[in-house]
Amino acid sequence: MKNIKVIAFDADDTLWVNEPYFREAEDKFCELVKDYLPKEEANQELFKTEINNLPLYGYGVKGFTLSMIEAIMNITDKKGPLHLVEGALAIGREILGKPIELLENVEKTLKSLNGDYRLVMATKGDLLDQERKLLKSGLARHFHHIEIMSNKNKEDFQKLIRHLDCAPDEFLMVGNSLRSDILPVLQAGGSAVYVPYHITWEHEKIDHHIEHDNFHQVDTINEIIPLLKGEDCLSRN
Ligand SMILES: [Mg+2]
Repeated sequence: MKNIKVIAFDADDTLWVNEPYFREAEDKFCELVKDYLPKEEANQELFKTEINNLPLYGYGVKGFTLSMIEAIMNITDKKGPLHLVEGALAIGREILGKPIELLENVEKTLKSLNGDYRLVMATKGDLLDQERKLLKSGLARHFHHIEIMSNKNKEDFQKLIRHLDCAPDEFLMVGNSLRSDILPVLQAGGSAVYVPYHITWEHEKIDHHIEHDNFHQVDTINEIIPLLKGEDCLSRN
């Protein structure tokens, strides 16, 4: 990868653990409404509600909590007792209080790239929650800029690249979502490194293979260092 000047990192499940907390919360939600609906159906109802609400609420714990409450209303035909709502609020609050667990090699990779590149964090999610997680993570000092985005489509990345005052071919995005971190960046003329995480939210999955000169895949985040140095012939996907 030549020319790269700015490296943007996704945060959730790229820098730190996130999706397992949502899986845990979904299980707790199913347990909460188990008298009304079997687990699989309750999970589907919640997922459907979340997806319907994305254009209104965006990504993050607050939207997830409102979706749980709405799903409870649907599941119980608006007759459910209020303690179910109380339970949903508690599940949401629990996610907000989770500790930050950095993923393997994150800290040393950021440290090693800092100075040679401008490092940026580019994430979706609730503003306050992501700021809190960044603070707890201790990683803030590595980043030149933090971008908390409502969405991650091609236009959003074009705007970010312009804002960062770099050319598209000087921009590299590193993330765990093919749909949000990789495809739109390639479409915007940037480069992208996919670092898969073992759990991916259904909504972030895509069903086709990516073939692109500016696309790379690694197993762990520190492998982007040799890629940037041009030792990428074998790693290119
Ligand atoms: Mg992510």
